[in-house]
Amino acid sequence: MTPQELSLYIKAEAKCLGFAVCGIAKAGIVPREEMKRFTEWTDGGNHGTMSYLERNCDKRENPALLVPGCKSIICVAMSYAQPATPRNRLHLSRYAQGKDYHKVLKDRLHALLKSINEATGAGGRAFCDSAPVLEHYWAEQAGIGRVGLNHQLIIPGLGTFFFLGELFIDQEAEPDTPIEHNVCINCNRCIINCPTGALTKTGFDARKCLSYLTIEHRGDLPEGTGEKMGNCFYGCDRCNASCPHNGNYEPQTTNELLPAEELSAMTDEEWFTLSEERYKRLFKESAVERAGYAQLIRNINEIKKLR
Ligand code: SF4
Ligand code: SF4
Repeated sequence: MTPQELSLYIKAEAKCLGFAVCGIAKAGIVPREEMKRFTEWTDGGNHGTMSYLERNCDKRENPALLVPGCKSIICVAMSYAQPATPRNRLHLSRYAQGKDYHKVLKDRLHALLKSINEATGAGGRAFCDSAPVLEHYWAEQAGIGRVGLNHQLIIPGLGTFFFLGELFIDQEAEPDTPIEHNVCINCNRCIINCPTGALTKTGFDARKCLSYLTIEHRGDLPEGTGEKMGNCFYGCDRCNASCPHNGNYEPQTTNELLPAEELSAMTDEEWFTLSEERYKRLFKESAVERAGYAQLIRNINEIKKLR
């Protein structure tokens, strides 16, 4: 296959596998400026206790250290857009309502790799939040979107409610062209609607972000967190929900990512009295399993005590 043919083949296969978008970037060393931006962010402590972000900078910079002979980086996106929870009900972040997206995306990326391998003999590896990969940088290089003031990838015409995944392969596929114009319209809605000040014009401080505090942070929540949480007991979504690019999103249809009936029907009273047994049933094979029962209850209690 020529690089052009391989590129067309990959995109057709990605579409069949349910990815909404697929773009290809030429693999290479990440520019120094880009790495500097990232290390300055971690050096400033903005990543909180997510210390894994400080490690493996050499691999983050050089894709060939993750896949020897890496020539192309295939970037895919899969929607997790769900209808919003009614305002007066407790809210679980949209991305966490189905099965664990790491597994859902990786299974499909492995299927894509298998198909490419059978067609061309190419080798490679699949990633989804599972390795030191600068995913926003590569998604921009692959032309699938641009990062906005909300620090999310905005996919033109589709929005920001997307999981991202990457396939590094050792074959050359024709690369796409990055989007040159700024997709974010600088309306500031994400910043205005952020209840904690985690988002500013100049940056993002994960330590203040409710997604970080309710999911990654161990131990007691900082004082006053409950008032900022509102109804959100796991994640937050306000910056995404307020972005005009998500104004007309299509609800996603990937079976594994849809919430189970029991989860959708949960009332506040049921959340407030959630047993460990029910927690295990509700979040079997879900990303929420990572936080653990005690942490979820810590979050729910933060809201309960203000009711
Ligand atoms: S998830 Fe919530 S707290 Fe975090 S940046 Fe977005 S709006 Fe702010
Ligand atoms: S809400 Fe406005 S400023 Fe924020 S990312 Fe979306 S378009 Fe950009």
